[in-house]
Amino acid sequence: MTTTTTANYDALVIGGGPAGSTAATVLAMHGRRVALVEREPFPRYHIGESLLPYCYFTLDRLGLIEKMKQSHFPKKYSVQFVSTEGKLSVPFYFFQHWDHEAAMTWQVLRSDFDRMLLDNARERSVEILQQTTARELLRSAEGVVTGVKAVDAAGDAREFRATITIDATGRDAFAVSRNGWKVRDPYLNKIAIWTYFEGAKRDEGLDEGATTVAFVQDKGWFWYIPLPNNMVSVGIVAEKDYLYGGGMRELSEIFAREVAKNPWIAGHTGAGKQTGEYWVTGEFSYRSRHCAEDGLVLTGDAFAFLDPVFSSGVFLALKSGEMAGDAVEAALAAGDVSAGQFTEYGAKVCEAIEAMRKLVYSFYNERFSFKDFLMEFPHMKGDLTECLIGNLFRDFDPMFNAMTKFADIPAPLPHGAPLERVPAEAGR
Ligand SMILES: Cc1cc2nc3c(=O)[nH]c(=O)nc-3n(C[C@H](O)[C@H](O)[C@H](O)COP(=O)(O)OP(=O)(O)OC[C@H]3O[C@@H](n4cnc5c(N)ncnc54)[C@H](O)[C@@H]3O)c2cc1C
Repeated sequence: MTTTTTANYDALVIGGGPAGSTAATVLAMHGRRVALVEREPFPRYHIGESLLPYCYFTLDRLGLIEKMKQSHFPKKYSVQFVSTEGKLSVPFYFFQHWDHEAAMTWQVLRSDFDRMLLDNARERSVEILQQTTARELLRSAEGVVTGVKAVDAAGDAREFRATITIDATGRDAFAVSRNGWKVRDPYLNKIAIWTYFEGAKRDEGLDEGATTVAFVQDKGWFWYIPLPNNMVSVGIVAEKDYLYGGGMRELSEIFAREVAKNPWIAGHTGAGKQTGEYWVTGEFSYRSRHCAEDGLVLTGDAFAFLDPVFSSGVFLALKSGEMAGDAVEAALAAGDVSAGQFTEYGAKVCEAIEAMRKLVYSFYNERFSFKDFLMEFPHMKGDLTECLIGNLFRDFDPMFNAMTKFADIPAPLPHGAPLERVPAEAGR
């Protein structure tokens, strides 16, 4: 097998999901020479369909708001909760809190959404190589990452060399698995089983595109996300032992057993027809021990993944991709792509994840309910909403201090900073 070495790029991005496309586009907009390798041909299937209002600002910077407005993606004005008995709460409309057009967001078909982002990167001069799978990190004699070894669609080996490499490989977590950096969140250890329904019931008017979170006993929950083409995405998240309890192994049987437990979910899905396969995923929440090493930076799910109950994944992918693009631009401009250049980047991304993570922990705490919390601390409604819509770069301490009355709020995880090599290691 011959190996082709491709000329030097300023930046090489691995992975063409929301984080990778965004980082690549931002760098190209800064005038950098960027290549992106993506394993799959697009469009390709992906889970993660419900956006947060604050996705707006990164999409705006990428020049995509008009395309989103003209898209077939259902408009999402709210999130609503359904009790274990099937009782619907009053929807939580974002516009009641925030007078901005971003208060309306979207439920996206990821195959179309991700293709739109990748096409946009290509239009901004990012060189896109699809069906090209990164296999190994290339390193200098000093151990600095200098690109990747990949295999293209024809099965030929290729080496891509770049001043800096950005890992945006999602939950495949390319660098994390090779470097042994994966640290699982000790408590958020759930699994998800999901599928799709055609013609399932949609609520009326503004609520047609709402995300519904419906509870099942033992702190499991369903998502119910209306999609284009009369499809609805429906999934359950719960402890593995609970879902596989009683020796049941068939995903369709487990799913049907849980659907029957919540009358709202049973009624809404019952009006439609289940289509396609059942999907399952585990290893829910993790964060990489490091966000960067010399010549390499991690972004999106390739850096950290958080339980999806508040639909924060695509927002964090877009935002961290944007921040990685800007941090890499600053490092390139300074002529220094060592890990230390990404200290602030890592700290800011962790700060945003920590705010969501605290909210996720409260959600799973049996003593906690939004209703009881807001009855006792009504003045916290603004802070809570800011967190739920993705305005994560602000001081939430007062709210989380108040929440300790109802739930155990976790301390921030200690890891996620860049790997700064001690001088003795350099040159190994
Ligand atoms: C069950 C579940 C439900 C979810 N629901 C939501 C939701 O409702 N809302 C929400 O916002 N988020 C949700 N998420 C999270 C969301 O899916 C992710 O956070 C988001 O897709 C992360 O984007 P990314 O760009 O980091 O990674 P990805 O979108 O996964 O993109 C990574 C890309 O890298 C490519 N790749 C991987 N390895 C290689 C390689 N070696 N070489 C080349 N290319 C490679 C892959 O093909 C892929 O295209 C959910 C996640 C799960 C598991």
